[in-house]
Amino acid sequence: MTARVSYARCRLCGRGCGVDRTRGQKGFCGAGSRLRIAWAGIHRGEEPVICGEGGSGAIFLSGCGLRCFFCQNYQLSRENLGRDTDIREFADICLMLQHKGAENINIVTGTHFLPSLAEGIRESKKRGLTKPVVWNSSGYEQAECFSVLDGFVDIYLPDLKTLDASLGGFMFGVSDYPRSAAAAIKKMAASRPLRYEGSSLVSGLIVRHLVLPGLPENTRAVLAWFAENLAGRALVSLMFQYSPPGGKGPVPKGEWGRTVSPEEYEKTLAMLDEFGIEDGFVQEPPGNGESRLPDFSSRDAFPGGLARPLWFHGEKRPGERPRARARRMGRG
Ligand code: SF4
Repeated sequence: MTARVSYARCRLCGRGCGVDRTRGQKGFCGAGSRLRIAWAGIHRGEEPVICGEGGSGAIFLSGCGLRCFFCQNYQLSRENLGRDTDIREFADICLMLQHKGAENINIVTGTHFLPSLAEGIRESKKRGLTKPVVWNSSGYEQAECFSVLDGFVDIYLPDLKTLDASLGGFMFGVSDYPRSAAAAIKKMAASRPLRYEGSSLVSGLIVRHLVLPGLPENTRAVLAWFAENLAGRALVSLMFQYSPPGGKGPVPKGEWGRTVSPEEYEKTLAMLDEFGIEDGFVQEPPGNGESRLPDFSSRDAFPGGLARPLWFHGEKRPGERPRARARRMGRG
């Protein structure tokens, strides 16, 4: 691991806090130096080439360096829900997912734990992991991270939320996100050409974009950029699952308080034609009243049987016994 890709003077994501996480300091992401996981299981709600036949072996990490105010996983990104664990248990989880038929190991929001995850995948491979590794991230990785990421990631699955610096400033409190994410995504495309085995993707890049209510020009700019820079070399995935912010934080008013309308959905599909984008995926908008938010306080975190839980932060580590309570001895 290079000195720049470490928890000491941490600059793993674009926040660049510079804190020494090896000495107990925490930066914006809220993470220390111990790997913290919230949930793992077989997920069937990802893109079809990620789910394949067996489903995707998703591992959701706690904390986040970006923290969109509308994050649907706010219990993880803002509230840091999860349990501290270690490399050995991470490898146990990877091998359990493989054993249960997962098509891949899908690491969700792991940028702030990159050193531990690289080590965990190395350990998993030593112990028999053969499935591809998916890096499912916000796209806010720093350039130096790719010297490590390219060593173990097979499929990049980043978000590209906006190319508008002022919108980025409003959503995450940082204006460099568009420049940083666009540069990271170009690196991902260059290092991982698209390759399939059967119906599953085993190498490549899928760029996800969440359509935001009342902001069609944001989506137009992202799709135009994709067509110009990545068409034919990557897939695009349009998501319509925006939900008004959950949790206890302040909720911005106006359009942010609603979901994407059927008219907005249709307009976005027309943009794909406008830019000649054919390779990729479009998520169906959820039906009226259908919950879009997972609940990571529950083992069955995902609504509608979308996922099969195999590891949950609220359960004890296998073999771990509750500590015997110290008993006060009477003197008779
Ligand atoms: S990973 Fe966390 S501590 Fe490191 S730069 Fe990003 S927000 Fe700051």
